[in-house]
Amino acid sequence: MTKRRALVAGNWKMNGTLASIRPLLAAISGGIGEETAVEVVLCPPFVYIPEVSGFAGPGRVGLGAQDVSEREGGAYTGEISAKMLKDCGCRYVIVGHSERRTLYGEQDALVAEKFSAAQAGGLTPILCLGESAAEREAGHTEAVIARQLDAVITQAEVAAFEHAVIAYEPVWAIGTGKTATPDEAQAAHAFIRRRLARHDRRIAAELRILYGGSVKADNARQLFNGADIDGGLIGGASLSAEDFLAICRAAG
Ligand code: PEP
Repeated sequence: MTKRRALVAGNWKMNGTLASIRPLLAAISGGIGEETAVEVVLCPPFVYIPEVSGFAGPGRVGLGAQDVSEREGGAYTGEISAKMLKDCGCRYVIVGHSERRTLYGEQDALVAEKFSAAQAGGLTPILCLGESAAEREAGHTEAVIARQLDAVITQAEVAAFEHAVIAYEPVWAIGTGKTATPDEAQAAHAFIRRRLARHDRRIAAELRILYGGSVKADNARQLFNGADIDGGLIGGASLSAEDFLAICRAAG
């Protein structure tokens, strides 16, 4: 069986100030220690990337961003390119987070372009997929995930998933305190892996698929137990060093 290294990524969203992130970073970085079984990544707001970069490096936290432009560069006011993120020390970038999809109207095609732009700029995309509450209730969970995933496979081709991470994040579980049950999460992850395996079994077997949606210190271990669950994408709980470190330990 393929051994995949667990990954826990913290998404700080639009939270924090220098005064609040400095002690948070020191505590997270100090708590990670020599533990290498789990890869730990932080995705701060763009402006705090240099601050986090001071704590990043081999055996320490990895650095990621929360979004990236689909363009390489030029007259696109307010945008940030993959090359800029790479230049500032990022290795990862989240693409297609449900808040980008729902609040900023990002469609599958744009998410796919961002995925490719991230890779072209030397970053590893963390591609978020997930259904809304209404879609789950209507029995459309797999169809929605398949549509979101296929859009990227069509644009980037399956080989691109050799250098990518997927996060399954049911929209109804993000920031709501509701989580998928371990069985629901495992079923969705297994579906994603099977869908990729139709194109390439090895890439599917090696791909890391994270669960996201109200992961907390007290439910992380149960969720991460699923055979196809390789860690988590953590929102709210990544703003507390104690909670985030407990989640990282649960993934080990
Ligand atoms: C997220 O935003 O990706 C997320 C999973 O948030 P939370 O952990 O707060 O539900």
